[in-house]
Amino acid sequence: MDLTFQTKKQDDGEYVYFNGEINEDAEVSLAELPKHLESTCVFNMKHVTSINSCGVRAWINFLREAEKSRNITFEECPPEIVSQINMIPNFRGKSHIRSVFASYVCENCDSQHLQLFTEGENLPTSPDEEVPEITCQKCGETMEMEELENEFFSWLDHAK
Ligand SMILES: [Zn+2]
Repeated sequence: MDLTFQTKKQDDGEYVYFNGEINEDAEVSLAELPKHLESTCVFNMKHVTSINSCGVRAWINFLREAEKSRNITFEECPPEIVSQINMIPNFRGKSHIRSVFASYVCENCDSQHLQLFTEGENLPTSPDEEVPEITCQKCGETMEMEELENEFFSWLDHAK
């Protein structure tokens, strides 16, 4: 599914809910968006399903434009978006990141879980900080994060 978005004005800014795939067609979907955005925006990434290299390029161009004279915050970034943010600093540019989803697996029963980490609640402040243990809802064993914690959270260091 191609990238779509819905916007919603709230007290703390304009929320943009992205949905679908950031691919080679994203350039078209994103082209007109910066013109309409308010000065404070929150980009909700929860329903971005996948991203490819053409999509990354389109996104970076879009963000560069959108960031001009705007404060942008990313929230609810799925693991795939976090990987992009870690690999390509321009993917988030100057934007603030306030929450991310990490993927967990239970080695005992194969359950999977997406855990939200939110700034001011359970999000670490540096990549080396200990992350609270997550317990499997099914069998009660401790779940493992799919990526190395200090790598998954390495973007926290670039944030300063
Ligand atoms: Zn389990």
